[in-house]
Amino acid sequence: MTDIKQKATRGAARQKLTVALCGNPNSGKTTLFNTLTGGNQKTGNWPGVTVEKKQGVYKLDGNVVIVDTPGIYSLSPYTPEERIAQLFLLQKQADVIINVVDVTDLERSLYLTSQLAELDIPVAVALNMTDEAAAKGIVTDVVALQRKFGCPFAEISAAKNTGIRELMDMCIGGKARTMRKFTFSAQVENAVIQLKKLPQLHNASRYALLQLAQNDIYGANMPQLTADCLDKIKDISAQLQNALSQNVAVAVAEMRYAQISEIAAAVQKTAHDAQRIRASTLTDKIDAIVLNKWLAYPLFALIMAAIFYLSVDGLGGWLTGLINDKLTPALQSLAGSAMLSACPQWLCSLVTDGIIAGVMSVAGFVPQIMLLYGFIAILEASGYMSRIAFVTDKFLRKIGLGGRSFVALVLGCGCSVPAIASVKTIKNPYERRATATLAPFMPCSAKLALISFFTTYLLGGNALFAISFYFVSIAAVVAGGYVLNVIFRKKRAAYDTFVMELPQYRLPNARNVLKQMWQRGKSFLTKAGTVIFAASVILWLTTHLNCRLRFAEVNDSILAQIGKFISPIFTPLGWNDRGCGWQFSVATLTGFAAKETVVTTLQILLPQGLDGAISPQGAYGFVVYNLLTVPCVAATSASFAEQGKRAALTAAAFQTITAYVAAFVVYQAGNAVATYGKTLIAPIVATTIAVTAAVCIYKTVKSRRKCKCDCADCTICTQCDKPH
Ligand code: GDP
Ligand code: MG
Repeated sequence: MTDIKQKATRGAARQKLTVALCGNPNSGKTTLFNTLTGGNQKTGNWPGVTVEKKQGVYKLDGNVVIVDTPGIYSLSPYTPEERIAQLFLLQKQADVIINVVDVTDLERSLYLTSQLAELDIPVAVALNMTDEAAAKGIVTDVVALQRKFGCPFAEISAAKNTGIRELMDMCIGGKARTMRKFTFSAQVENAVIQLKKLPQLHNASRYALLQLAQNDIYGANMPQLTADCLDKIKDISAQLQNALSQNVAVAVAEMRYAQISEIAAAVQKTAHDAQRIRASTLTDKIDAIVLNKWLAYPLFALIMAAIFYLSVDGLGGWLTGLINDKLTPALQSLAGSAMLSACPQWLCSLVTDGIIAGVMSVAGFVPQIMLLYGFIAILEASGYMSRIAFVTDKFLRKIGLGGRSFVALVLGCGCSVPAIASVKTIKNPYERRATATLAPFMPCSAKLALISFFTTYLLGGNALFAISFYFVSIAAVVAGGYVLNVIFRKKRAAYDTFVMELPQYRLPNARNVLKQMWQRGKSFLTKAGTVIFAASVILWLTTHLNCRLRFAEVNDSILAQIGKFISPIFTPLGWNDRGCGWQFSVATLTGFAAKETVVTTLQILLPQGLDGAISPQGAYGFVVYNLLTVPCVAATSASFAEQGKRAALTAAAFQTITAYVAAFVVYQAGNAVATYGKTLIAPIVATTIAVTAAVCIYKTVKSRRKCKCDCADCTICTQCDKPH
């Protein structure tokens, strides 16, 4: 009996059975994982949604552990998470592999299947998306596939939950088998035999031997080989290359493809017809519009505007209004009247004005966040998000970001928390860091309150001022992107192998969308119940107590003392122009709890209003500072969770410095205009023209230069964008 069969059938005393789900990106592994484990892992109709391996227990058998791995097209890794999947398989951590195959794209999927056969791990193949295949008239000869590969194949639909029980019975019942392996030309087979004879390679898998025949030690994952053995491998590989008169890796891949095409053609008689039909089907028709050079951006703007309207303003806005205007006051008066007779007044105030007001101000965002996430989940599941990423990728690459960063930036206009959380889908770690650092520059809905407050009360109610803050944010993202790109350029390029893939459009699964909405709402509420709760208590205490911990007026409170202490830092930004520096400093500090509190704090600390408290240029700089500085505590904790302590602290420092420099420049420039007025116009225009001309000349000269990189010979260099 095989090892796996023993593990599977030893009854009550059975060992744990580890089943790994592996397959191409987007083949439905995570959907299957969620169905098997009852889990809530994020799925999405684009590659790269699962970026680390996830583990869960099969809900019908506690002894079976299911592992969801990142998608791979072959066992040779390009990106870090592909390496995670590869190492997991090569190190034989799985007892059984379920190879999830998108049956509507059989030919491409079988490349990996043929490599999995070489690992000597029992495999059961899940032919997924059978519902879609049926709709397209694709019929697959499963028996023929079983005969060819010598292992069981199960037809399933992970989304519709069909065939899954049979698949799992195959794995647990010990029916999974090590597959029949492909054979290659005599020269290749000869090299494999020679390699196998080397003492250190007696036990190596056929996959490892084939990689070594290509002299790919890293791919074979055999770091412990001696120098002598490595020399012999090099010799055998060189001889093979001579015999084939071709690169060995290319030759083996071609032989593999030839056999796969033959199998696919034999088992899916309608495959070619179906492909032809597919070429002219909906996906292409939609793409003709969605990816059109002229229509892509306006259409995206329209879709995002509709989503924002519905989630932030329409339904979401209405629900948030209901919570803020009805539920919160009701809770406050209920708590107030319940506590009034039994508790001291300070405790009443702490609970009603501190805790309830603080926590509910954040809880009020929950409907907006849930709706926004619901729509984003629909965009992702339908396949549209991959198109957005594809369309914006080229421009964003120039500033060190990528197509997927765009989604984070758009989300940042609603709230930095989901924006930072969404960077998980970005494969390149440097792009991921840059995006998490820059997305909070976007004016989230809380900052919108600050913008409208200042525009209304100080900047003459001029809507142009309000809009200009959006340009400040975009300029900060572009400038910050350039700076980070200069820092990370070399490291970033090392990961730049990613090719955007456009999946077929699919109807989103309602259950998945609702699940993702619920997950978002829940995590937001958890934060409101913990971090924001603590922040509200601290804020209340520091505004009501003085340094001797006695109740005092706001002007003598601990917060005022702190404000007076730190206000000199902000004097160069003009916050102290009219003697109210400490109030603005305190407001900025409290903005760390949530950006709306900046407005609330100013209203409390400056009851006479903003007029006379700060100069217009100082006020503009104040908004710029708060727009760009470290986001609120919720977003900062998201940054810690997503990037780790070190990167999050670096991001916070970068944001603070950018905010300070930008506010300083705005204030000083505003002062110069106020002092010198119209006399400045001529020099400014002249300088702008001169700088623009210099940039144009530099760009023209640069574009004529040839690439000097030591890289592959193609038309445009992928490292420096110059022609070869
Ligand atoms: P992964 O990248 O392999 O983890 O794939 P996901 O589980 O994230 O699924 C990719 C997309 O395929 C999602 O939009 C799923 O809803 C969809 N999907 C998964 N399984 C099926 C299925 O059996 N039928 C159909 N029609 N869609 C599916
Ligand atoms: Mg996945």
